[in-house]
Amino acid sequence: MRRFRFRASVILPVLALVLAAAGGVVAGTQSGDEQALQPARQGADDGIERRVSDLLARMTLEEKLEQVQLLPDFMVTEDEVRKGLGSVLSVTDPQRIRELQRIAVEESRLKIPILFAFDTIHGFRTIFPIPLGAGASFDPRVASEDHKYGARESAVVGLKQTYAPMVDVSHEPRWGRIAEAAGEDPYLNSVLGAARVKAIQGTDYSAADKLVASPKHLAAYGQPESGRDYNTTDLSEQRLRNLYLPPFKAAIDAGADTVMCSFNAINGVPGCGNDAIMNRILKDEWGFDGFVESDWTAVAELRACPPKNPDTGPCGHGVAADGPDAAALALNAGVDSEMTSTLIRDFGAQLLTQGRISMRRIDDAVRRILRIKFRAGLFEDPYAPVGPDQAEAEMLKPDAVAAARKAAGRSMVLLQNEGGILPLDPSKKTAVIGPLADNQHDMLGPWWGAGRDSDVVSVLDGVRQQSPGATYAEGCKLSNAEPPTDDPEGCGSDAGFAEAVATAEAADQVVLALGETREMSGEAAARSTLDLPGRQEELLRAIKATGKPVAVVLFNGRPLALEDVADDAPALLEAWFPGVQAGPAVADVVFGEVNPGGKLPVTFPRRLGQVPIYYNHEPTGRPCDPNQKYVSRHRDIPSCSPLFVFGHGLSYTTFEVSGLRLSASTVSRNGSLQASVTVTNTGRRKGDEVVQLYLHDPVASISQPVRRLRGFERVTLNPGQRRAVTFTLDKSDFGFYDNRGRFIVEPGQIDVYAGNSSSATMMRSFTVRG
Ligand code: BGC
Repeated sequence: MRRFRFRASVILPVLALVLAAAGGVVAGTQSGDEQALQPARQGADDGIERRVSDLLARMTLEEKLEQVQLLPDFMVTEDEVRKGLGSVLSVTDPQRIRELQRIAVEESRLKIPILFAFDTIHGFRTIFPIPLGAGASFDPRVASEDHKYGARESAVVGLKQTYAPMVDVSHEPRWGRIAEAAGEDPYLNSVLGAARVKAIQGTDYSAADKLVASPKHLAAYGQPESGRDYNTTDLSEQRLRNLYLPPFKAAIDAGADTVMCSFNAINGVPGCGNDAIMNRILKDEWGFDGFVESDWTAVAELRACPPKNPDTGPCGHGVAADGPDAAALALNAGVDSEMTSTLIRDFGAQLLTQGRISMRRIDDAVRRILRIKFRAGLFEDPYAPVGPDQAEAEMLKPDAVAAARKAAGRSMVLLQNEGGILPLDPSKKTAVIGPLADNQHDMLGPWWGAGRDSDVVSVLDGVRQQSPGATYAEGCKLSNAEPPTDDPEGCGSDAGFAEAVATAEAADQVVLALGETREMSGEAAARSTLDLPGRQEELLRAIKATGKPVAVVLFNGRPLALEDVADDAPALLEAWFPGVQAGPAVADVVFGEVNPGGKLPVTFPRRLGQVPIYYNHEPTGRPCDPNQKYVSRHRDIPSCSPLFVFGHGLSYTTFEVSGLRLSASTVSRNGSLQASVTVTNTGRRKGDEVVQLYLHDPVASISQPVRRLRGFERVTLNPGQRRAVTFTLDKSDFGFYDNRGRFIVEPGQIDVYAGNSSSATMMRSFTVRG
């Protein structure tokens, strides 16, 4: 069980979060094919509203408070279900789901079905690449396919809600959960988040293969200080609005009907006690009519720890004195459903008598939950579309497995390929070496759903399918031990290096599988270094010394600091955690069946000390220059740049992006214009290029980021083939939020950059008229 309880030793100070509610948040404008993925929002339905009102009128207070309760697998009891429990998470056994649902709809007084939820983050049983990897595909279809099959497999066991997509923008690679979303850019997270919502819900999530989506974690959970999970976040209004909220708005606009509030405090106000974000922005400003569930025990964590809080339950934020206080704060701030802790249920009646919460607010929370249950079709058909005995046959079907293989291939990023080492020739003798080579467990990455190690095709097996007779040596062993332990990362011994070297020497070419274990990413998995764990760099140097062509394939859930690795590895392929089809997908790319076309969704620093380092940073009055003293630089790093920039990724062919043209030189504040470029495959292989469009506002009332991604399109071209790519820009692209929460469009020049990474130099400008 990954759950544990803790007691925070530091009580956070209570600060006021002042958020102006004015203005509308910009949704990511979606480019190209993405527009074909139709929005899924279901409008208000009078019939449903009448049925909700009718039920509400018949519910007792106790039943209403049960309805707002959300319990995990190990806390659910049949008695609780008979009393009218609202929702259950993390039960995945179809038999158990069916039985609990039967009790709810046959034995509870009002026969209200339970909403069963699960974290289907990148696949249920057919595990796809981690979301950071899907982000690297720059392809909304990869995200869609992931959730199309994830929803289908989840639904067949009786689940009807998923706690996805995670759309937390993050500039913090130490944070283990950077693996769970699309990286550092709000626009990319918006486009892929919206695609995920549409795939999860379809146009009607009562369909047998659809679920209701729950974007998370509202808000700014991706920016914890020091990268330690759950830690404090302190940020300006403009950053909150410009960087962290847009993907949530895009997910809501795409139809997401539930949302999860976050553990972290922003400016002293915890996510699940944050009236400004949940009530004013999400519900009032964005018109969200679904429900908000708290994250795991996040309501209880609002409490101060002892001595004020005498029990031993979760606590820490110190914005509530005790359980009743926390329940009132969370409910009044907009939490509609409480996960795992039971304070609203336990103290609701008392708080009502004391006038600290209102019946109106309880009814609102229950109405929101029932509305979603009606939209999900649970009152018509509360059960899974197939019987429990048939569920297993629906898992890992050939279409899902093929989609997972394709997604993994499209997620891979060719970081460097000096001397054209890749692709390797499968008819030559291949050695597969490294701690992640003959490994099924780690390929699933964090949040592996109901995935099983035995479902995974390892890199070794994948390579052997295409290069028969490939040999193998482990080199060293990574650790999955949970700290505290002397060796939390493993690979601390070079005892296996000699065998690895001998294996390399006996082969013509080497695939070296290095990286992190899956336990080093995901929740509660912050690292204090971004280096390859253990002595893997030494292993690389030993293999390199054999003189054999070496292709390093990396498996990891975060940007790593690869300065030394990049010096030693001429060919470097970033594979993330690819999922069940890891081996075949790696072999497809390594042997050239698939030409890599992914791009980095997050900046890779040279060294940890550069963190946070991200492409969309604000300028300073003393821009970085390694050769000057009184400028914004690290004196011990002879460069201002990261190792690999956001949007970087190579191919086995070459491309040219040229001819940037704007359809107008001036535009009114409410007008729009087109930016177009031509992309040409200038090499000798078919391949994919991601055309990227960035904006910069050089003079504004608030210093603007040096670049902001506002359009991208992944295109496939044959050798010599060219394609025109056009992006439409309007105020959602050239406007921004100020520090009072207002969306403003200022007159003046806007620079447009186009190319194939965030360091594109081709530029044209236009003017926004006053
Ligand atoms: C995580 C959420 C997750 C929830 C339920 C929490 O600890 O922060 O992302 O959805 O658990 O599993």
